[in-house]
Parts: sequence; C-alpha cells; structure tokens
Amino acid sequence: MSISNDIRNMLDIQDKNIYMSENAVTYGKHKGKSCKFIKAKLTYDADQCPNCQVEKVGSSIYKNGTQLSRITIPTMGVYPTYLLLSKQRFMCKHCGVSFTAQTNIVKRHCFISSNTEAQIMIKSAGAQSVKDISQDCGVSEATVQRIINKEANKYKPHYKALPKHLSFDEFKYAKGKMAFEYIDVETGDILDILNSRDNRSITDHFITNYSLSARQRVETVTIDMNAGYVSLIKEMFPNADIIIDRFHLVQLISRAMNKTRVKIMNQLRTSNGEDQKKYRRLKRYWKLLLKKRSSLSYTEYKYYGLFGQRLESSIVQEMLDYSEELKVNYGIYQDLLEAIDEKDYHALENTLNKKCPTQSSTYLRTSIKTLRKHLPYTKNSFQYTYNNGRIEGINNKIKVLNRIAYGYRNFKHYKNRIRLHFKLKPVVNKSHSRVA
Ligand SMILES: [Zn+2]
Repeated sequence: MSISNDIRNMLDIQDKNIYMSENAVTYGKHKGKSCKFIKAKLTYDADQCPNCQVEKVGSSIYKNGTQLSRITIPTMGVYPTYLLLSKQRFMCKHCGVSFTAQTNIVKRHCFISSNTEAQIMIKSAGAQSVKDISQDCGVSEATVQRIINKEANKYKPHYKALPKHLSFDEFKYAKGKMAFEYIDVETGDILDILNSRDNRSITDHFITNYSLSARQRVETVTIDMNAGYVSLIKEMFPNADIIIDRFHLVQLISRAMNKTRVKIMNQLRTSNGEDQKKYRRLKRYWKLLLKKRSSLSYTEYKYYGLFGQRLESSIVQEMLDYSEELKVNYGIYQDLLEAIDEKDYHALENTLNKKCPTQSSTYLRTSIKTLRKHLPYTKNSFQYTYNNGRIEGINNKIKVLNRIAYGYRNFKHYKNRIRLHFKLKPVVNKSHSRVA
C-alpha cells in the first residue's frame, strides 16, 4: 500500500484505485528505444454496470480477468516512461456484458496519459519545436501536433460576428511569405490569420466568412501607414473609420529627422578641428534633437562629456546653430511632432499645407507627402484611442517563436500553434508602454 502511495505521488497519479507492488519498475525497450516500464494494477469493486445501469446485488457483477494497456506518462528520469496498467475486467450477470475498469489518468481509448497531454500543451505554449516536445514527452511528432490541433480547435474562430474595433497587421512566416492577421483591438484576441496578405485573399476571406451586415457593424480599423489596406477596408467595412496608428506617424517623422541629422553631420567630416568637434557632438547627442522641444530641460544643469556642465536646451540650441539647414528641418519636425502629440488636427493640417522651405530635407519632404496623403485617417487617430500596439506585441512574439520553434511547412498546423500559444499565455497589453 505504501509503495503504491509513493509511486503514485511520484507519478502525479491521483487515482487511488491504481496499485503498484514491489519491483514495479523495470527497464526495457519499446520501438527499439530504451525505456522504463512501471507495472500497475487498476482495480476496484464495481457497484453498477455501465451497460444496463443495474446496481450490483451480491455477486451480480464479478471480477473477470484483466486487460493490459501501455500508457505513455511523463518521463521519469532519463528514459521515456510507460505505465503497464493491467485493468480489471468485470462481468455483469444481469445483462451478460463485460466491461473494463475506468480511470481518469487517461481518456477512454487513449494511450497517452492526461498528464502527458497537459505537458505537451504547456510546452506548446512556449517556444519549443515540435521535435523537441516530442522527445521530451516520449511521444511522436505526429502525436504532439495532433494534441495541439485538438486543443487549438477549441479556440477556432466562430466567424459570423465581428467586433466593433479591428486592427490589421502582417508578419513574415516563411521565406518571402507574409501572413495577414486581424485582431479585436480591445481584447487583443487574434481573430484569424491568413497565409497571404494580398487584397484578393483578404477580400475573399471577409466575404466568405462574414455577412455584409456583420461587416457594416465594424466601426474602426486600425492599420499602420505602409499597408495598402485603405481601399479594401472601404469596400469590406463601409461604415468603418480608418485609423492610422499614431505611433507610426511619429516614427515616420522622427526617422526623417534623424536621417537629416546624419546627412548634415557627415558634411562636417572634414580635417578641420572645429568641424570634427561638431561632428562628434551631433553624433553623440542625436537623441536630444529628436526629443520634443517642450520636454527639454530648461532649468537643470547636467554634465555632458562633449560640452561640460550645461542645460539640455542650450545644447540643442548650440547644435542647431551649426547649420541653418538643420535648424530649418528641426523647426518643421518639432511642429509636426507637437501637433501629433497634442492631437491637434488643425495645427497638423496647417504645418502640412505650408510650403516647404527650400532648405527642408528630401527625407522630411517625403514624410510630409505621406502624411498629407493619409491626413483624413490621421484625423481619426486623434479622435480614437485605438492603436496597433497590441497587434504589434503579438507579432513580436510570433517573430520570436518563428526563430526558435517553428519551421512549419503546414500553415494550418502553424496557425494552430500560434493560436494555442496566445490562448494559453495571453499577451499583456503593450500599447501603453510603447515609446514614441
Ligand atoms: Zn449489465
């Protein structure tokens, strides 16, 4: 009895009808591989017949032999471990049918323990390859995938209805292949992933799976600026406002400003000592030029290696004095940044419609053109709080998974894995922690 107890505890078996005796553990081979067998017996007094439901009276149900099954359980030690369970058979005199003792450690007609299944699911939620999981759990790769698919099916999209607020994005899933995904921007739930992001596949998907009235109920769709989804959204979701993610607006102009700085900095790469000093300063303190003008410190003196004890604001002023061109571009950049940051649509519109000074850099001018093109959707991004932070958080995770765990050739299997990964490990809302 106490041996049974110890072994059961060691194997996390809760069914007290399973007994082990001395010398229960033996080593052997299964499918040519070394493994460990644990002999056990499943028995109890059956008091009702599962066939005719008649309760036991006297010896109306009697024990009648055993049935052996080999159950995969989580690996104990080094070798794959199997429970050799001899299950009690019973005979019912009332209906003349025999039946086998039941246990919850394994599902009916299944030879993989529930514990092993749980272990496979936990590992699948992490970033491990199917091959590694299969080795760790002592089951075949096909079995691992089958369990993933079965579990992921529970989270299959049940189409028909759409949330009010969607977010679109795409990610690379194989060499040269991009997947399209859309999520509920409020809950962060992945609604579906398509193995192609071309307009036709996406349109087909929405038409096939959702009625027009379901699509008409969508109020907003958030996208990033590079995506060519605008006309598709207008067609598929006639009542939806398109929102350009604000983070991308800021990213667009700060990249342009930074490129402008690099261009001007490189002009100072001369043999002149004074130029070299300016070059080094522009190189080291690049972040200060991107920082919002109003958040620069005007009161706190700090030590700067290439300047000495100074105010942040005066350093920026001095660097801007190095080049008229830098100053002009900085001014435009700051005006745009401020308008976006303060969600001031009119200020943004004014700045964008102003004629660009001749000294403005081509980088900044290109960004202004893009912003102008997207101006109506930018307005929406000022009115709504939705952004693409969540979907990008999801995509970053998928990228990590792609690097270490995947290599799926079957897109459906791949999708199931992603689904399981996010269902078992919900993502935290990163949309607030993004820095512009
Ligand atoms: Zn019976």
